[in-house]
Amino acid sequence: MKLEDLPIRDDLRGRTPYGAPQIDVPVRLNTNENPYGPSASLVAELAEAVRGVTADLNRYPDRDALDLRRELAAYLGHGLAAEQVWAANGSNEVLQQILQAFGGHGRAAMGFEPSYSMHPIITTGASTEWISGAREDDFGIDPGKAVAAIEEHRPDVVFLTSPNNPTGTALGPEVIARIVEAAPGMVVVDEAYFEFARTGTPSALTLLPDNPRLIVTRTMSKAFAMAGTRLGYLAAHPAVVEALLLVRLPYHLSTLTQTAARVALAHRAELLGAVDALRAERDAIVDWLRARGLKVADSDANFVLFGLFPDRRAVWQGLLDRGVLIREVGPPGWLRVSIGTTEEMAAFRAALEEIL
Ligand SMILES: *Cc1c(COP(=O)(O)O)cnc(C)c1O
Repeated sequence: MKLEDLPIRDDLRGRTPYGAPQIDVPVRLNTNENPYGPSASLVAELAEAVRGVTADLNRYPDRDALDLRRELAAYLGHGLAAEQVWAANGSNEVLQQILQAFGGHGRAAMGFEPSYSMHPIITTGASTEWISGAREDDFGIDPGKAVAAIEEHRPDVVFLTSPNNPTGTALGPEVIARIVEAAPGMVVVDEAYFEFARTGTPSALTLLPDNPRLIVTRTMSKAFAMAGTRLGYLAAHPAVVEALLLVRLPYHLSTLTQTAARVALAHRAELLGAVDALRAERDAIVDWLRARGLKVADSDANFVLFGLFPDRRAVWQGLLDRGVLIREVGPPGWLRVSIGTTEEMAAFRAALEEIL
């Protein structure tokens, strides 16, 4: 029995799944995780909180995760309340729910590439057509061209990733505002890496009050150092949250997830404490790579896109052979390295030096 022998949807035939390799090597710099896990005291507190709810695991969780949403709203600020915030198992599930509610058969979603590979995968998985718009040579988005592309294709959903993955590029609020104005449907600003942006970079949250069709998504997987918890969230008009209630599975967010996320939020000073050090490490690696004559995209995230290599696969493999796993992603010739600990970055530099 092979996959193609199954009566699978025609539009899924020949597709490949999301596949960042999960290889057990000493230095893992390929999926943009925060390299610093929780402290021993926070581990104890998380375990204690989970222990506290374990006796009630015979009961379904709070279906609307209200306490968690209230606390996420407080974290985001901007005067947001629980009714404007929604949470799910990673921002990928949030994005899937958005596509289920606002995409679907006969509808289309558009993104500006190179960008996050999951946007087209989630879009097509939700039986929605994917339209690929282009970014400029510096990986920014030209608002005039973007507006023209939106007017031509009239997408039901527009994705803007800021800071962008895999390039690290942040968008100015005026670009986002122009696109929101032109878009006939929903605009999703994926801010998975917002906490790593350079100081002074405004969030698209500032545009929410005037734009009921704008959705800003965030995650605890990156800066918050909680990728294993699977907690993503969004801020939007309360009517958007009502739309998502129509498609979400009941009790989608387990009691354990809600509990762990709330403890993490309460300890955000510790969990986000490494962000400044990671940004400094990022800026240092940008300088180091440029000093070696390499091309490096400006980054507002916890990773750096660099190149250009005639044979990027050979460089990726050379690093892996030396125990350093990075990501072969982005336009041809580019590679992406996530920012790890000081020791991990030293290992990356030593390995790359040997290869170059
Ligand atoms: C990592 C990432 C996410 C996060 O996904 P989760 O499901 O929250 O772990 C979302 N958007 C982008 C652009 C990312 O790079």
